[in-house]
Amino acid sequence: MKFETLAIHAGQEPDPNNGAVMTPVYFTSTYKQDGVGKPRQGYEYSRTSNPTRKALQDCLAALEGGEYGLAFASGLAATDTVLRLLDAGAHVLAGNDVYGGTFRLFDKVLRRFSLDFTFADTTDPESVADALTPSTRLVWLETPTNPLLRVTDIRAVAEIVHAHPNRPLLVVDNTFATPYLQRPLELGADIVVHSMTKYLGGHSDVVGGAVIVKDKELAEKLFFLQNAVGAVLGPMDAFLVLRGIKTLSLRMDRHAENAMAIVKFLESHKAVEKVIYPFHESHPQVKIAKRQMKNGGGMISFLHKGGREAAVKMVESTHLFTLAESLGGVESLIEVPAAMTHLSVAGSQLDVNPALVRLSVGIEHVDDLIADLKQALEM
Ligand SMILES: *Cc1c(COP(=O)(O)O)cnc(C)c1O
Repeated sequence: MKFETLAIHAGQEPDPNNGAVMTPVYFTSTYKQDGVGKPRQGYEYSRTSNPTRKALQDCLAALEGGEYGLAFASGLAATDTVLRLLDAGAHVLAGNDVYGGTFRLFDKVLRRFSLDFTFADTTDPESVADALTPSTRLVWLETPTNPLLRVTDIRAVAEIVHAHPNRPLLVVDNTFATPYLQRPLELGADIVVHSMTKYLGGHSDVVGGAVIVKDKELAEKLFFLQNAVGAVLGPMDAFLVLRGIKTLSLRMDRHAENAMAIVKFLESHKAVEKVIYPFHESHPQVKIAKRQMKNGGGMISFLHKGGREAAVKMVESTHLFTLAESLGGVESLIEVPAAMTHLSVAGSQLDVNPALVRLSVGIEHVDDLIADLKQALEM
């Protein structure tokens, strides 16, 4: 079945008890057993498994072209659980432009548990090859990245990583692209991670994370950790993400269509120094982006010619674009990463230009969005 059909039906059958078409929200912590050690349909306790969460997990697996999906309380909880596959002393190679919270988890928390991290420019597969060490067990990529929208050739990196004698795991954080635009497992990744808080949820009303894999043995280890560590997604949140996913393809097409029109507007505006968008001809990895993504997505970054002060003034002057962190919802958001989402990486190698403005383009009418940006740029 095609993506749009799977998004609506995968993992979701009418309820066997009463025919309810929408997956019920199973608000239950435990399940009646038919005898000692005889749980019905395998459900014993909701940290281990819950039918609403299972429906979402199975849907996620289908959309990413994987076999197994796991849902977590947040994107970072999903990331943390994946890193617990490793033993102390392991080396992790990560992109040097990963999400700020991912960098903070690696650098400030997991280093204390004797994991070793190196950050490299994954957009250059050669620098990935150079940074692999005899202890490397995991390679962590994000593409496109946040907020610079750098694109990594997943297939090229997968070939390098898998040719290494340790055969490290290749993980791709697919939050910005979503499985509608890009399917890393089909390009050679071992694990896909999502912050479902963003496009998968799509309505800025839920925090959640996901992990998707193909390999059975890897899935068993992750299901063990999901239960043993316990950072699971609750049933109401699972329902909200399931509902959001039903319109993912429609939303992503509109996000990208609006973003393309806004890119054209911004590049012709005299207050704008440079526009960054994966499908724009000036993007350094535009060819790779067009090869591995269906469209350019809904995120745009641009440099304001007037520097930090002008960028701050602009983002405080929009009416429709809401000044806020996060991204991927139906409503448009605007922010200055250096002072907001990326404040925690200030002074590190992930430092971003203070005049950089990031847009999460929503699905409102594009004329209204452009009018709003225009008045804010010309304040
Ligand atoms: C938001 C985000 C995360 C973290 O997810 P949470 O749901 O906020 O914990 C990880 N990666 C990327 C790319 C993100 O945008």
